[in-house]
Amino acid sequence: MKFNRKEFLQDVERILHADFKCDLKSAGKKELYNAVSKAVMLEAYPAWAASKEAAGKRCGYFSAEFLMGRAIFNNLLNLGILEEVKGALASVGEDLSQFEEVEDAALGNGGLGRLAACYLESAASTNLPLDGYGIRYRYGLFRQVFEDGYQKEEGDDWLRWGDPWSVRVERDACIVRFSDMDILAVPYDMPIFGYKNGVVNTLRLWSSEPVRAFDFELFDTMKGDSKAVDNFNATKICDVLYPNDNTMVGKLLRLRQQYFMVSASLQDIVRKFKAAGKDLHTLPEAYCFQLNDTHPVLAIPELIRILRCEGLSFDEAFEIARGAFNFTNHTIMAEALERWDVLALSDLLPSVYEQILGCQERLEREGLDRDRFFIVRDGTVHMANLAIFVSSKVNGVAEIHTNILKTETFRNWYEQYPEKFVNITNGITPRRWLLLNNPELAKVIDGKIGEGWHTDLKQLASLRPFVDEILPDFKRIKGENKQKLAAYIKEREGVDIPPHFIFDVQIKRLHEYKRQLLNAFSILHFYFGVKDGRITDFPPTAFIFGAKAAPGYYMAKAVIKFINEIAKLVNGDEDVSKVMRVVFVQDYDVSYAEKLVCAADASEQISTAGMEASGTGNMKFMLNGTVTLGTMDGANVEICEEAGRENNYIFGATVDEVNAVKHSYNPWDIINRTPELSRILNTLVDGTFSDERGVLKRLYESITGGYEPDRYLVCYDFADYIRVKEALLRDYGSDEFFKKSLLNLCAAGKFSADRSVRDYSDLIWHIG
Ligand SMILES: *Cc1c(COP(=O)(O)O)cnc(C)c1O
Repeated sequence: MKFNRKEFLQDVERILHADFKCDLKSAGKKELYNAVSKAVMLEAYPAWAASKEAAGKRCGYFSAEFLMGRAIFNNLLNLGILEEVKGALASVGEDLSQFEEVEDAALGNGGLGRLAACYLESAASTNLPLDGYGIRYRYGLFRQVFEDGYQKEEGDDWLRWGDPWSVRVERDACIVRFSDMDILAVPYDMPIFGYKNGVVNTLRLWSSEPVRAFDFELFDTMKGDSKAVDNFNATKICDVLYPNDNTMVGKLLRLRQQYFMVSASLQDIVRKFKAAGKDLHTLPEAYCFQLNDTHPVLAIPELIRILRCEGLSFDEAFEIARGAFNFTNHTIMAEALERWDVLALSDLLPSVYEQILGCQERLEREGLDRDRFFIVRDGTVHMANLAIFVSSKVNGVAEIHTNILKTETFRNWYEQYPEKFVNITNGITPRRWLLLNNPELAKVIDGKIGEGWHTDLKQLASLRPFVDEILPDFKRIKGENKQKLAAYIKEREGVDIPPHFIFDVQIKRLHEYKRQLLNAFSILHFYFGVKDGRITDFPPTAFIFGAKAAPGYYMAKAVIKFINEIAKLVNGDEDVSKVMRVVFVQDYDVSYAEKLVCAADASEQISTAGMEASGTGNMKFMLNGTVTLGTMDGANVEICEEAGRENNYIFGATVDEVNAVKHSYNPWDIINRTPELSRILNTLVDGTFSDERGVLKRLYESITGGYEPDRYLVCYDFADYIRVKEALLRDYGSDEFFKKSLLNLCAAGKFSADRSVRDYSDLIWHIG
């Protein structure tokens, strides 16, 4: 985008006049933020309008979550005016970095929502016509604070700074019908700017409003039969994002959210398609839809319902749906595969349920064995099965994950429809996750190999011959990033982290399968070792955690308390704190992640093998030049393939080993012969830590007792983890170690989301 400083500042000033009754001199931070953003939107409008008109097939990415993070810096970067706007503001005495206070748009929980955000950015940057469709939650993922080491949740008022990057598109509003009420859906469109290519795609987020406040004249066809609406209920649908990551909670409001989003999106798309005078049978030639997990799967029966209202037969509608939908699975954990109660669903959405039954009948008509294949069974609707049956393609998100889908989770389906199953390994956008968060390192790379890697990440491989040459710069920049992070942690958390310590980082949602507990055990192991003098010359290390726990996830919250207690013990110990520090940062989010991944020396990716479908955090660290300390799980496997296992620190049971031992496993066999582990476990119950609510005791029980003791094999992998982790820490500091780190960066090309979306387009969407 071309940039004229004088005109830009004039635009900013005029917007300040009109919207805030102030000028550049008197504007406050918030006013300035809104005016600067809106001035950019003014400039970007023509390109946005042009992109919308582009001919050819488009894909709709349907997702209940979009974890966008902060928009302003990314948008300026992609428009190629980051430095220009910085300069323009500086010329009037304002600092662009003041906008680092702007709230993240946290309309997602974790990996799945962040993936959606990366894909939108990458699609725009690779000129693929992909638009996002989701929900404009009034409150996004809760804000996390610690009190006495316990997590406390607070409301996330992400609109506090305004929403200058969205446009309310009143003219595209439509009505979504539930059996008990009609709701008005109003879209807010957010531009998604491609990286310096003039492409602008759209993220359309629907907001719920009462119908009553709306102009009925616009809805001729609905006149007279709109049900009375309760204002309170209408807005409530989009009130808040469900804070559960990877767990199914069968709440009716959640079902309403899901239907609200897909119904509004499909009504809008079909209406426009018809208005263009096209035959509905050709819909799959113009549109396809990617279902991001099971959350938007109601789109399938909803499209069939809409088409039947247009006069098509069930089978015609079914064929169109089968031609248009595709499904991404993100987890093999049973507790995350969505199932809905038939009574609840048929009560709330009778005509949608009718189409689901139609799909079940169709499945039987196609001659599939009713015992092995079902959508509705025993009073339950199985959303994943519905998605697989009707979709053209089903994909897993890393090689190992897709293989598990084929051989275990969806084995029956794979045997029936082998051609449906494809793998698309996840990716991350290198713009936000290197150019933006680590600009100094990006500059060094530019200096050696040019800027081609910004949009073709495989080119990082050509940095390999320069690894020795840039090692001093790499070390210096990592050191500076660590200093900045340490200062930020001091400010936000009040904890001192000496910047010369090794930064060992585990940041991701808190889940038992992700095994933050295993990391915690290792810290106590090192603590006791140093304290007792068994471990000498311990390499000074800061163990850094960031994670939110779902408010209802008892064990996850217990782990947070445990680690905060360990932090208090270690940091408060005069002897040990010379070589060890522990900090659990509060309110881990995208913006915190940007600061953490460029300052890390070790990336903890230690899930029980087979349980992390892919991970994308692992890719962010790799791209910033960090070795992985991890299991052979998810994309870690492919990271090792690309960067060399010898350049990472791999430990623990493999998937095969996990499968072989999980049924016969008894943690006591290990605890009894490992006094060290026994001592660590005992800290949960022997009064070492304050536990007034008894959460640590429950943690102890989850490892040692119950129906399935130590379900995630923490004790099983403990010894190997310690061995490899200690090796990593002892390797740290040598040129050899920094070379390993850099070689990971050089090998990160595969994990660009640009590659992922191109794979989707080539194998599934056939767009662009
Ligand atoms: C990337 C990211 C995640 C996903 O991390 P994983 O380690 O892959 O689970 C979650 N939350 C935020 C804020 C992220 O940026």
